[in-house]
Amino acid sequence: MKAILFRILIAILTIRKTSASAGDYSYEYQNCYHQCREFNCTGTGGVSIKESLVDYYGQTFLDKIFMWSCKDECQYGCMWRTVDFFQERNLKTPQFYGKWPFLRFLGFQEPASVLFSIGNLLAHVHLLRKFRAEVRPDSPCFKLWHLFTFVSVNGWIWSTVFHTRDFPVTEFLDYTSAYLIVLTTLYCFCMRMVHKMNTLFKGGLTLCFIAFYYGYFLYLSVGKFSYSFNMKTNIATGIVLAFHFNWILHSFVVLSGILSGLGWLTWCFLVRKHRPYYKLVLKFYCLLALSMVLEISDFPPIFWVFDAHALWHLSTIPIAFVLYRFLIEDCKALRKEDMNETSSHEKLI
Ligand SMILES: [Zn+2]
Repeated sequence: MKAILFRILIAILTIRKTSASAGDYSYEYQNCYHQCREFNCTGTGGVSIKESLVDYYGQTFLDKIFMWSCKDECQYGCMWRTVDFFQERNLKTPQFYGKWPFLRFLGFQEPASVLFSIGNLLAHVHLLRKFRAEVRPDSPCFKLWHLFTFVSVNGWIWSTVFHTRDFPVTEFLDYTSAYLIVLTTLYCFCMRMVHKMNTLFKGGLTLCFIAFYYGYFLYLSVGKFSYSFNMKTNIATGIVLAFHFNWILHSFVVLSGILSGLGWLTWCFLVRKHRPYYKLVLKFYCLLALSMVLEISDFPPIFWVFDAHALWHLSTIPIAFVLYRFLIEDCKALRKEDMNETSSHEKLI
């Protein structure tokens, strides 16, 4: 009885990744998948796994590069058979292993999310160049916003990789890199607010953030991978680690996002009279809030390509332009104040 309860608890806690969705749970899918694996992936009858696979699915060079294994090909082929089966009976489009069915393109698992992740990456590179062209290197916070761009570019690289192929390791790196962007936004807010403080104080603050993220990353990487390794042999460890991974991960992301958002909005209120460009921050957060509607909504992919998550990645591209406009205006204003040696109390922030 205890073992059953443990298993149910495991299933609830790890629902995002391991739960059976209507599609992969269905008899049609299970039957198709097991037959496919048996006939194509066992390597019997003198035909190697590779030859059999290429014959059956006509794998391209890119499919092989992106590591579509025989098992993956069976999952993909049976997924579409099952979708047809559901649609013929006017049933709702099912999900498979917690994901909507996506049309694969040139070996890319979720081509629209890949394309828009690259779009975000290029937007940050382009906007950094614009920032460097307009802001003088001796401006306050000049290097700070470079750090923000590098962290964002890193995040979008891993987002591209994860949407290209969803493996536990690519999913983990996408999540932790996305969290690094959120945490860096909070860090940049803090550093921007204390930019007039001494180096020792700013160094201490930086160390706190580094130590926190380092611990977080290490803790989660041990949790994530020990969890999958221990799943079959150690149910109790699995429960503890799965619990930590899902809840701690999400609560830290949400908390850091809320803190930096509240921080910037409070700043907007305090400086509304002497920094007219505060409206850019408001615009940025309003657009971000609107875009989050897409992130939390869920519908089957339009044309089997554009789902809510992909459209959310598309929506963050123009929002980055608003943010960098603010960064440029703010750096210019801070430099001007430094040059004029403004000692007014209100210009401290
Ligand atoms: Zn994504």
